[in-house]
Amino acid sequence: MIAQRLAILGATGSIGVSTLDVVARHPDRFEVVALTGHRRLDVLAEQCRRFKPRYAVVGSTEDAARLTATLADIGTTVLAGPEALCRVASLPEVDAVMAAIVGAAGLPPTLAAAKAGKRILLANKEALVMAGSVFMNAVKAAGATLLPIDSEHNAVFQSLPADFSGDFARHGVRRILLTASGGPFRSTPTAELANVTPEQACAHPNWVMGRKISVDSATMMNKGLEVIEARWLFDAMADQIDVVIHPQSVIHSLVQYVDGSVLAQLGNPDMRTPIAHALAYPERIDAGVAPLDLFAVGQLNFERPDFERFPCLALAYRALRAGGNAPAVLNAANEIAVEAFLDGRLPFLEIPTLIAATLDAIPVAAADDLEAVLAADVAAREAARALLP
Ligand code: NAD
Ligand code: MG
Repeated sequence: MIAQRLAILGATGSIGVSTLDVVARHPDRFEVVALTGHRRLDVLAEQCRRFKPRYAVVGSTEDAARLTATLADIGTTVLAGPEALCRVASLPEVDAVMAAIVGAAGLPPTLAAAKAGKRILLANKEALVMAGSVFMNAVKAAGATLLPIDSEHNAVFQSLPADFSGDFARHGVRRILLTASGGPFRSTPTAELANVTPEQACAHPNWVMGRKISVDSATMMNKGLEVIEARWLFDAMADQIDVVIHPQSVIHSLVQYVDGSVLAQLGNPDMRTPIAHALAYPERIDAGVAPLDLFAVGQLNFERPDFERFPCLALAYRALRAGGNAPAVLNAANEIAVEAFLDGRLPFLEIPTLIAATLDAIPVAAADDLEAVLAADVAAREAARALLP
């Protein structure tokens, strides 16, 4: 078997660690060519010892010097900075790129992988939210392959016909139903939300994830970003994507067809399933995930999302419908708000207020190239910072 050669961007994060867990189960199938990490250099060093990549990428030249010294006996070349991320994402000796950096920092290397025609395993939803049309055009132009890692989108991908072209009518697709757990505050009285702490917000009932996406799940901005992600991945209109609250997180999402059929993908809430699916696609490999025990699950429940309780969800639909630079503005304002909340500088309930005010402050304009997207990102960050208390 010819091994698939991988670059794993964001190897030290929650998705990165799960990816290496799956990879380690199949040493004959995968070869790790590059690993990247921004902090937690001890974790990156340990990963390099285990997987012996040709390249590692860190944030600064000081960190690169330190890691080079630590790894002297392995021969890993350590590079630093955003340019190096783009370089390893487009190396000729890399077949597939796991895009698992969190936030806007993941856009340039993920786009570089698209332009190099790689097979992209996309976890970094912010890249697609910010630069949907630019990114999808680059994928098409270079003949890259895009496989969704986000559990909902991976479930939709699995529930769509294998030859799905984006034409809903031709394939008889009526709607996409994205499930959402509702996060840790699904039934917390609104009055109590005013004082929630970062620790409470990061304690997700079903999934263990990085801190940024955990806060996004608590505000439900995560689901909002996923609606925009689905718009681009599946060429869907805003009106063709619904959100269904499903507290057990067992049904990962569904596709409704015109004949009344609804197809879904189910499983335990463990990201190693979508990661293994995308790594091996179109084959199936062991992910280390326990089989789903429906008798233990017992019940599957569904609720309508409460747009008043979770204004971030409505803000995401607003940005999607506005189009152009609005999703990039939404994403940037959200990153600033979440960071401020995690630092104890912004109350939880002010997160949507700050994002709405930023959307109000930046006029909607076209965002058909990377420059326009990045300009919107910078302007929105500035506006959001100025609005912080
Ligand atoms: P995380 O915070 O655990 O890890 C983030 C990774 O990105 C780390 O390796 C970190 O070193 C790196 N990183 C952070 N800032 C960087 C920068 N400026 N430059 C370069 N690298 C940087 O996050 P995560 O939970 O693994 O999420 C990663 C991405 O996957 C996010 O976009 C998230 O929305 C998406 N995602 C995560 C999950 C999950 O279960 N964790 C599920 C679906 C989607
Ligand atoms: Mg998700």
